[in-house]
Amino acid sequence: MPEAPVVIHDPVEMRTLTKSLKRAGKKVGCVPTMGALHEGHLSLARASVAETDVTVATIFVNPTQFAPGEDLSKYPRQLEADLKLLAEAGVQYVFNPQAETMYPPNSSTSIAPPKISRKLEGEFRPTHFGGVATIVLKLFNIVGPNVAFFGQKDFQQVAVVSQMVRDLNVPVEIRTCPIVRDTDGLALSSRNIYLSKDEREIALTINKTLAHVQKQIEDGQRDGFEVVTEMRQMLIDGGVSSIDYAAVVDPLTLESSDPIQLPVALLIAVYVGKTRLIDNCVVT
Ligand code: AMP
Repeated sequence: MPEAPVVIHDPVEMRTLTKSLKRAGKKVGCVPTMGALHEGHLSLARASVAETDVTVATIFVNPTQFAPGEDLSKYPRQLEADLKLLAEAGVQYVFNPQAETMYPPNSSTSIAPPKISRKLEGEFRPTHFGGVATIVLKLFNIVGPNVAFFGQKDFQQVAVVSQMVRDLNVPVEIRTCPIVRDTDGLALSSRNIYLSKDEREIALTINKTLAHVQKQIEDGQRDGFEVVTEMRQMLIDGGVSSIDYAAVVDPLTLESSDPIQLPVALLIAVYVGKTRLIDNCVVT
């Protein structure tokens, strides 16, 4: 049986611990998560365990990145199961603070996220990346990692965090890990448990659409408008309930790429029933 990770709730205790580990010459990796862990999260944990001496996974369902009416209260929470999975991945420490500790009643400072946060996700979830940037910076200040691991699944999130780190001179290296998918191609997400059997079938359209237009672009299609039109049509034909965006963008600026100039990122956000799903792929 792998040893269970040590769970720390207190920011000062966390910072004291990693400070002494770093003073002893250890390289510290951090894997920020909201819990309800799956193979996607665990791939980040394993990447950190492989690259660093000590891995701190954080589990915190961050209220400030949810808008009113989103799924904050029903977001899955399963700490005991998560700890078991993290133990198997070789993670030594878990930082699991309370919301009141992270946001005491008198706290009022937040990060204004970079410009790229206003596009795509930002158009539909205007307060989301402010919440993400603020919690990620707080976690970096508390854990003080040398390296932090994020998933390409949240493509715009990594772009926002990477730019925040550059703009604010945060001494953390950002690593991006590939999207982990189920055997049927659906990108793993903690929100997939909301899907009924029929909805899950519909959700497969997302990856199928990405794969289809990726092939078209690889075969020479350079008309961005046509690609986006085809993406939207495939998603509608596949039965998604609504489309927030289907976009072909420059991976760095997130500006739409038309005519298409490689590399491009294909990004999709849709609702299947009441569940919002995102996915993407990069064509090089
Ligand atoms: P979350 O718990 O949803 O905030 O995700 C925590 C981290 O896991 C983020 O960096 C996500 O991008 C990453 N992640 C989530 N799903 C996947 C996946 N299917 N493949 C790779 N990374 C993922």
